[in-house]
Amino acid sequence: MLREAPPQSKSSGTLDPKPTPSETLDPKDWDDIRALGHRMLDDMIDYVADIRERPVWQPIPDGVRARFHTALPRAASDLGEVYREFTDFIVPYATGNVHPGFMGWVHGGGSAVGMLAEMLAAGLNANLGGRDHMPIEVERQIVEWTRQMFGFPDSASGIFVTGTSMANLMAVLVARTAALGRSVRHHGLGGDGAVLTAYASTASHGCISKAMDIAGFGSDALHCVQVDRYHRIDVEALRAKIALDRWAGLKPFLVVGSAGTVDIGAIDDLAALSALCREEGLWFHVDGAFGALGILSPELAPRLAGIEGADSIALDFHKWGQVPYDAGFLLVRDGVRHRDAFAAPAAYLRREIRGLAANSPWPCDLGPDLSRGFRALKTWFTLKAYGTEKLGAVIARTCALARYLEARILAEPQLELMAPVQLNIVCFRYRAPEANEVNGDIVIDIQESGVAVPSTTLLGGELAIRAAIVNHRTDVGDIDALISAVLEFGAQRSSSRDDRVLQVEQSPPLAM
Ligand SMILES: *Cc1c(COP(=O)(O)O)cnc(C)c1O
Repeated sequence: MLREAPPQSKSSGTLDPKPTPSETLDPKDWDDIRALGHRMLDDMIDYVADIRERPVWQPIPDGVRARFHTALPRAASDLGEVYREFTDFIVPYATGNVHPGFMGWVHGGGSAVGMLAEMLAAGLNANLGGRDHMPIEVERQIVEWTRQMFGFPDSASGIFVTGTSMANLMAVLVARTAALGRSVRHHGLGGDGAVLTAYASTASHGCISKAMDIAGFGSDALHCVQVDRYHRIDVEALRAKIALDRWAGLKPFLVVGSAGTVDIGAIDDLAALSALCREEGLWFHVDGAFGALGILSPELAPRLAGIEGADSIALDFHKWGQVPYDAGFLLVRDGVRHRDAFAAPAAYLRREIRGLAANSPWPCDLGPDLSRGFRALKTWFTLKAYGTEKLGAVIARTCALARYLEARILAEPQLELMAPVQLNIVCFRYRAPEANEVNGDIVIDIQESGVAVPSTTLLGGELAIRAAIVNHRTDVGDIDALISAVLEFGAQRSSSRDDRVLQVEQSPPLAM
């Protein structure tokens, strides 16, 4: 049987000038989607409100994982069915950072306000690459507020990015262009670029070395400087290293200070780094991924003294700021230098003084992205709806909870504190022979129990249980639950190891 010929061939190759109707993605009946949408909203608000009733995290069953390896869906599915797949197979197997028992990594908890704002932003579907529309002004408002937080001048510029990894990379690129001039963007690093060196402490985040790699310097061009027992950069060792490198013909250009290291929450002496960079003529960048927002707490702000002297600051509103993912941010003191690193002319991005193509410079002049979402809206809602005083108090409270955890550890003979508690991160372990193995097992046991989610880190080769308290929902009871779980699983794990050791001892001696 012959198939009916496609319509194009009927009209001998010319396209039908009248498009078929109803090819839009809009629903036929808006009331249906409205009802389902209201249900989704109610469900998600319940999810956040009742989060304590859920395990913090649970392993994904193989059957559930397998459901997400299907063929490309060519035909439409009922939206209600798709939504059910979301509620049944995605929601129960999330990371758990919304849950107050999540302390594994430095993850923010999000908020109901941020969630609603994210929905509004999706409805508006704004593209913040540029042009003259109000969402750009909202982002500029956050830039202004961030400038005020850190005492930066009006000439400073800023931009939302995915996270601090990207912000640190962009800061390296801005510092590079400042050091080598704009021609580096045409000619590449060349011979001058090959001798540029950057500095950070051995406790700095891995994304800084990665940034040096991606920027073309190679990660070896990042010279890591030793830290003191509080994991703060040794400023005198840094000074000596810079002098030695200069003597060897290298060209130091950048120092990255940490405002809150990821393993134990150390803050470098930012004032000393700032002064050193001014003396040496180096770009001073601060990785303030989570710690920089400590500036909102009158109690913590003095610890960040010197950050106002930075040339650039990378930070995440999605960590201590509790803005839903993702909301990274880069602030650059000299807005012209910032633009020098990224602005590029293009005919289709021509600027006007009136009309929608006005309002230059655009965010696309300040980073690698052209199309960009409206991250600023959820941040604007969060800052306005809660106010910085409340956000600062929430931040300070996570540090108080860390001190409470520290006190509980010091009071338990079976537990050992592994690093000084300086901010909101606590590293400790269960005392046992083969402590690294036992503590690694304890952490996984606790994660699988759903009671809490700690993580691990290595401190001088010793494995530590790491609790990073970032979530505004975390309370004293969650800390107590973590302690109980460590003691319980610790006792289990060490007794099962004792059995094993015993068995080994009881086995008959080998031939003499
Ligand atoms: C989280 C973190 C980063 C990386 O930030 P992302 O937002 O995850 O890209 C960098 N530095 C420090 C100190 C961090 O805590």
